Amino acid sequence: MPSDLLKESIAQAAEEHGFILPPECISDIVAAVDMCRELDSYLTGGYCPQKEEISRLKAALDRERGKAICESCKGSGWITTQGPYHGSSSSCVHCGGVGFVY
Ligand SMILES: [Zn+2]
Repeated sequence: MPSDLLKESIAQAAEEHGFILPPECISDIVAAVDMCRELDSYLTGGYCPQKEEISRLKAALDRERGKAICESCKGSGWITTQGPYHGSSSSCVHCGGVGFVY
C-alpha cells in the first residue's frame, strides 16, 4: 500500500474515533508500519533487496557452466590452414574467436 494511501487511511480511522492526528504523528505511524512489513518480509523470506542481482548472477553462472571449448579451434580462437607454401590463420568462425561455445 502506498504511503499516501496509508496516511489517508490512518487519518480517516483516527477521525472516526474523534481524533485529529498531526501529520508528523501519521508519518511516524506509517514508518512503524513500513518497518513491521519489512521485518515480517525478512522473517518469512519474502523480501530480498538483492533479488534481481541474485537472479542475474544465477543466469550468468548457468551460462558459464554451459560453456565448452570450441571443437573447431580447440579453444585457441584461431583456425590455421596449411597450404603447400605457407599457412594462414584466421579467427574461428564457430566461436567468434573466443575459443568457447555455449
Ligand atoms: Zn573456435
